[in-house]
Amino acid sequence: MKNMFFPGRMCSPSIRTLLTAIALLTVATPSVVAGDGDTDKVVVAYVTSWTRTMPDPTVMTHINYAFGHVTDSFDGVRIDNPSRLRQIVALKRQQPALRVVLSVGGWGSGRFSEMAATAERRRAFARDCRRVTDEFGLDGIDIDWEYPTQSSAGISSSPDDTRHFSQLMHDLRQALGDDRLLTCATVASARYIDFRSCIDCLDWVNVMAYDMGGAHAHHSALYPSDISGWMTSSEAVEAHLAAGIPSEKLVMGMPLYGRGDIGYCERPDTLTGVTACWHEQSMVPYLTDSERTMVMGYEDERSLGIKCQYILDHRLRGGMYWEYGDDHQAPLRTAVCRILMRGEAAPYPADYAGSRVRFRALFIYDPSAEPAHVEFDLQALDFFHKLSFGEGFTYDVRTACPASLDTLRQYAVVVMLNVLPHSPEARQAFEDYMEQGGGWMGFHATAYNDRNTRWPWLGRFLGCGTFLCNNWPPQPALVDVETTAHPVTRTLPRQWVVPASEFYQFSPSPRASEDVEVLVSISPKMYPFGIKDIVTYGDFPIVWTNRRYRMVYLNMGHGGEAFIDATQNLLFTNAFRWVAMGAIKK
Ligand code: ZN
Repeated sequence: MKNMFFPGRMCSPSIRTLLTAIALLTVATPSVVAGDGDTDKVVVAYVTSWTRTMPDPTVMTHINYAFGHVTDSFDGVRIDNPSRLRQIVALKRQQPALRVVLSVGGWGSGRFSEMAATAERRRAFARDCRRVTDEFGLDGIDIDWEYPTQSSAGISSSPDDTRHFSQLMHDLRQALGDDRLLTCATVASARYIDFRSCIDCLDWVNVMAYDMGGAHAHHSALYPSDISGWMTSSEAVEAHLAAGIPSEKLVMGMPLYGRGDIGYCERPDTLTGVTACWHEQSMVPYLTDSERTMVMGYEDERSLGIKCQYILDHRLRGGMYWEYGDDHQAPLRTAVCRILMRGEAAPYPADYAGSRVRFRALFIYDPSAEPAHVEFDLQALDFFHKLSFGEGFTYDVRTACPASLDTLRQYAVVVMLNVLPHSPEARQAFEDYMEQGGGWMGFHATAYNDRNTRWPWLGRFLGCGTFLCNNWPPQPALVDVETTAHPVTRTLPRQWVVPASEFYQFSPSPRASEDVEVLVSISPKMYPFGIKDIVTYGDFPIVWTNRRYRMVYLNMGHGGEAFIDATQNLLFTNAFRWVAMGAIKK
């Protein structure tokens, strides 16, 4: 379960540093959605064969007993210290809700590749897994093959392992039946397993969101920062979602140990000559030496509380930890249990931006739109995704506008990237959402409407008329910030040059609407504006808000240069924050 394989450390200073420096958002604290009472989350505790402590069976829902191994003949299961396993299973008499699972594998445990390579051996192994669950009174099997196709742990491997792994999951499910659990442990990057071809067989996946940093990096930071390793826990979850695992089958792993210069450490609190620090971006504690160099990354009740809140906010199946260990880890285990199993609020509410999710944001784009729009859309997704690391919001992406008001209502802000609802149902849902106080941010083509649009409400919502003309090709433009009294433009200069884009004029101009407040417009000094398509005169607002709604429209959004300018990035960030904050206050 512990990954001893350390590729070189990668640091990624990002735009987030800039954004965080620009302004830390202060938002009215949202109501805490928590109360006492049992939750449906799982808490999976790895308990090892080589420790002596008998676990307190009330602080977890599942024990994964570590380990069993593939037998030398590649067709069965061998269990380390079987008498301890029987003692662990006997805890169910004390705590009938407890489930005990045998974890087969672990770092350096081999023979998977040979076993999985033939149908005959796979099925014999699966039958033997079934036998041990019956014989020991187990509730299921966890496969901890580290990793298919890889020999880094000194085990045999084959390029066919990934395919064989999926076949093994099918064979195990068949042998175990539907009433026993089948889970697996996976590397943080979600590599080596084709989840789409086996996730139906699995009850859930335990993500090893630790051991992700070398000597001077935190091995289990929640969010990226200058102390995080090559991946973070949040990125590990995202990698698994992207690999096709639904959130309700994801269990995020948490380490109860520290790791750093001195390797693995179960008691970082006992080290001398070091200073304990807290990292506000990565949300984890760490130790530094007298040179202020990081020597150890670890977890405490605060960081685990924040991770558990992350699990709840992202609607994951639950949390897992390696490993149960000794009594000094009791406060850590208790923190996980209180939040995930008993539904208690995380004991460390936000005292700075991003320590927990405060709102949800939905981003919608159409991958089949014109290429220059998709180019912008993908950069925008990346930009706002990075913003989510420090801002404490959940970032969801869809490729079509939801046709359900209930879906939209989950979001404090819906960002439409060059896409509008088309179906009558999706249009109605969006109208209802906005009329009831929803938040909207729209770019570029979202205001493109003409006589074929046939959506009268859209014109009232946008506060502008139909598309009139545009400059072509995309060009940079000098723009006037018309007011700095509005929160969206308060931090902007009165004039600056925005990156190249295609800009639309509308007829009538949004300024003609008494509900509209124009924030930014193209300077008249730009006329004649364009080369092939030339705009020669006219009122040219490009960013505005309709006071009747919580909305900002921004005309930028064409091509690949939208995010090269820090001032424009600030405008986008301000607009996003203002819309989201308004929706939260409701
Ligand atoms: Zn365009």
